[in-house]
Amino acid sequence: MTRVLVVEDEPAIAELVAINLRHEGFEVSIAGDAAQATAQVDERLPDLVILDWMLPGQSGLQLSRSWRAQARTKSLPIIMLTARADENDKLAGLDGGADDYLTKPFSVKELLARSRALLRRRAPQALDEAVEVGGLVLDPATHRVTRVVDGAAREAKVGPTEFRLLHFLMTHPERVHSRAQLLDRVWGDHVFIEERTVDVHIKRLREALEPVHCAPLVETVRGAGYRLVATPGR
Ligand code: CA
Repeated sequence: MTRVLVVEDEPAIAELVAINLRHEGFEVSIAGDAAQATAQVDERLPDLVILDWMLPGQSGLQLSRSWRAQARTKSLPIIMLTARADENDKLAGLDGGADDYLTKPFSVKELLARSRALLRRRAPQALDEAVEVGGLVLDPATHRVTRVVDGAAREAKVGPTEFRLLHFLMTHPERVHSRAQLLDRVWGDHVFIEERTVDVHIKRLREALEPVHCAPLVETVRGAGYRLVATPGR
C-alpha cells in the first residue's frame, strides 16, 4: 500500500489532505512539524511526502534540503505546499529538492493528480496500477499475475514476497538491481536480511512463472544482480 506522510502544522489542512488521500486508497500519517516528520521518516520511509513550507521551527524547505543530503532519503518524492506565490520562492523550493510544488489555496483534486503523477514517475511500484512486461501482466488491485497462453489468460500463483519482488522488477524493467537494492526496495530499508534471501525468492519467483512460460524474463546478471526483461536472452 502506498504510504504518504503529510507534514503540515495546520490541523484542518492536514486532515483535509489526509482524508482525501485515504479515500484514494493511500495509507496516510500526519506530522505537525519537522521533528515529528524526521522521527516518522527515520522509522519508516514513506513513498511520498506532502510537505508544507511554513512550519513552526525548522521550515519545510530546510527539511527537504536535509533529506536530500542524506543517502537514505535523497530520492524521497516530495510535493511542497506553500502560501507563497512568489516565483523566487517557488524556485527555491525546487532547488531545495521538492519534486513538485503547489501554492495554497490549492485544489485537493490537483494535489491528488500530482501525487499520482509523481509516484508514477518516481515510485511506480507504490501505485495500484496494472503493469505489463513481455506479455506478463501484474495487477496489484486484484493481486493477480496473468499471461495469455494459447489464446487463454492463465494465472501464475505467486507468493506474497515474490509478488512484491515481481511488482518492483516489472515497474523498473531492463535495469539491473543488486541484491542490496532489492532488499532495500522490496523488503524495506530497515530490514536486515542476508542477501542470499533474495536468491531464494528469485528462485521461487521463476518457479511460479514457469507455468505461464515467463521464468526467462527474470535474468541473472553475473556479479551484478537481477533484472526483468521484455525479451529474454537478447
Ligand atoms: Ca503551515
